[in-house]
This record gives sequence, structure tokens and C-alpha cells, in this order.
Amino acid sequence: MSEILGRVGYNGVAIEEPLDPAGLHLVKAYLVHDRVARIRVRRVRDALGHLQAFGLGPIGDLSVREIREEAWLETWKASFKPIRVGAFLVRPTWLDVDPGDATVLSLDPGMAFGTGLHPTTQACLRALSRMDLTAKRVADVGTGSAILAIACAKRGAGAVVGVDIDALAVKEARENVARNGAAIELHVGSAADLEGFFDLILANIVAAALEKIAPDLATHLAPGGRLVVAGIIATEEQEIAAAFAGYGLRAVARDHEADWVCLELTR
Ligand code: SAH
Repeated sequence: MSEILGRVGYNGVAIEEPLDPAGLHLVKAYLVHDRVARIRVRRVRDALGHLQAFGLGPIGDLSVREIREEAWLETWKASFKPIRVGAFLVRPTWLDVDPGDATVLSLDPGMAFGTGLHPTTQACLRALSRMDLTAKRVADVGTGSAILAIACAKRGAGAVVGVDIDALAVKEARENVARNGAAIELHVGSAADLEGFFDLILANIVAAALEKIAPDLATHLAPGGRLVVAGIIATEEQEIAAAFAGYGLRAVARDHEADWVCLELTR
């Protein structure tokens, strides 16, 4: 089903797993509503019909729904609530809330990842809450919405650089940085594009990418510096820890929540 829907879906498909293990999986694809959308839907319907003919279990009905762009934006906005994580209060730009003693991060992440709601982002924010960032040189690799970079700038970091291989993310990061009145240098790129040494490097990406850029991360870490890596699934932890150990980095702290591990490494 993913293959069939993936042929027409914009940027692949989404698979929603059931909460109840005996429940049904839902496979979704989003199509651009253009002149040939109807033809595409018909093709999907035909292909799913053929799939049934292979005698696989029942695959359910195809349902098609039209989504208005404004409606989609509104739904998404309604689900983005202010959230307190460690020393920070992450809030959408359109909501005014009393921050109390928290450091406020105002975000409108658009299409870029990093609303502060993902467990890996939260683990990084908790790690930052425990650190004294005053005058520290910080690099945020895979900055996304720039949430972590902004958090560092707001907690007194001296110089903050954010890089991301996704140009769209960098564009949205720029807007978020401006919104928060933070001074952060942003570039399209990765760890290999960093210049100089950093007291703190953050990289909330995914294990496979972390492993690939591990030597570059290690190269740019100042003596006594800290490297915070997240996006690691619990079963990948050993392999990642071993990869960084190969560059002389060992874990001094560890955060583990909902299958995700965040490691704080140093030389
Ligand atoms: N730092 C944010 C966003 C994390 S999502 C947060 O903590 O919430 C991971 C981001 O890493 C994405 O924006 C993705 O484009 C970027 N990315 C993926 N592989 C990368 C790589 N090899 N180098 C740099 N950025 C990468």
C-alpha cells in the first residue's frame, strides 16, 4: 500500500500505527490538488484493487478527502501549545503567556522540525538547562527551526552558529532567530562546514547521520568542550557511543525518554 500511495503522494507517505496492537494501520498520502489529482486517485484505487486480488488480508477502503490550506494551518496551530521544558518555555508566536521564571523561546516552526515537542528536542533543552552557557561558543548542527541555537543565545552564550543541510530549514531558522531578537549565524551546511572550535556542540539529528559526521564534530570541539548528541534510538546507543569513543569522546551524562537517548560527551 505504501508503494502504491507513494507513487502519487507528495514527499512519500505517512503510516499511522494503531495504539491498540490489534488495531489497523493507516497509510496516508497527500496529493497536490491539481488538474490530474482525480486521475491519480483513480490509479491508486485500481492498483489497490489489484493488490486485493493477491489474496492478502483485507486492506480496507480508500478514502479521499480535500484539505483546504487554511484549515490545515489552523488545525496545526491549535495543536501547538506552550510547553515548559527545563528552564525554557517554548511558545508559539501567536500566543501570549506569562513565562514566570522561564526563558521564553518564541517559535513558528512552519515546515521545519523543532517545535520543542519532540522528545529529542526536549532532552537537548533539559541538557542546556543544566549548563552554564555564559560566553560559551556554541554550534548547533542540524539546527532545524533553530530552537536549540536560540535557547543558547538566550542563556548568554557568546557566539552561536547554526547549520542545516536543508535550505528551507535555514530560511525558517532565520525568521525564528529574528523573532527572538537573538544574534545567531546561520548557514546551509553540516559539521564539516564549521570553522574554529566550540565549547558546546549540539547535534540532534539521527544516529546514522551522527555516525557519519562524528569525526567533524570531534574536530571542532574545543578542549574541555561538551558535545550533546540526540536523535538516537535506545537500541542504537551502544553503536553510537562506540563511534564517538573512536574519536576520543566519552559520555558523561545521559538522558533517556520514550525510547530516545541523548548523550553528553567530552574528551
Ligand atoms: N535542532 C532541532 C532540529 C532537529 S531535526 C531540534 O533539536 O529540534 C534534524 C535537522 O537536522 C533537520 O532540520 C535536518 O535537515 C538536519 N540534518 C539532517 N542531516 C544533517 C546533516 N548530516 N548535517 C546537518 N544537518 C542535518
